[in-house]
Amino acid sequence: MPVMEGAESFQIQKKDTMKSYEKLLLENKAWAGEKVHDDPDYFNRLAQVQTPEFLWIGCSDSRVPANEITGTQPGEIFVHRNVANMVVNTDVNLLAVLDYAVVHLKVKHVIVCGHYGCGGIKAATTNTDFKLVLNMWLRNIKDVYRLHREELDGIKEEEARMNRLVELNVKEQVANLAKTSIIQRAWKNENRPDLHGWVYGLKDGIIKPVFEMKAGTKIDSLYSYDGL
Ligand SMILES: [Zn+2]
Repeated sequence: MPVMEGAESFQIQKKDTMKSYEKLLLENKAWAGEKVHDDPDYFNRLAQVQTPEFLWIGCSDSRVPANEITGTQPGEIFVHRNVANMVVNTDVNLLAVLDYAVVHLKVKHVIVCGHYGCGGIKAATTNTDFKLVLNMWLRNIKDVYRLHREELDGIKEEEARMNRLVELNVKEQVANLAKTSIIQRAWKNENRPDLHGWVYGLKDGIIKPVFEMKAGTKIDSLYSYDGL
């Protein structure tokens, strides 16, 4: 394998690290070669334009890759991922992605996909001090628990309770999408996108739909905007 100039001493020091990331680059070359072999125009076509029909808001967990578990190809899903697939109304990153996907790419569906066995969800139910930034983030999940405390406290078995919290969290994040003026404006003017709440099973690889809000769904009037 060719070694980049000047990288040799670094490679000796950090041989293992180099190997692991070099493998990614090597696999990338193999993948690109395979794509061109199967379809010589593949990258030319993708480089021109992207017209994804879906925005995916998923967990950053490495076991839940959006394209792989839905059998989709590059160009088909616009993706945003964060810890525990949250839709936080002060998160400029999420809102910029949502704005771009809805207003400019004109996606037809926004999918919030959580997953059973989510470490972020579980962490939020403990009293552990994870220090500044993580505490701030996980607080949003604690709020979901509090909203549904009666139902959740009634589930005695811990795994079942966590699974239900994962589902309820997805539902609340879908509802949070509907509270944005971005979604409300698109609903009013273009009758899209539909919002979907899904949960992926790490143990069987199956996605379970748990909640849906079709474009134009009536929401609590407190959150709806005039003059969109
Ligand atoms: Zn997760």
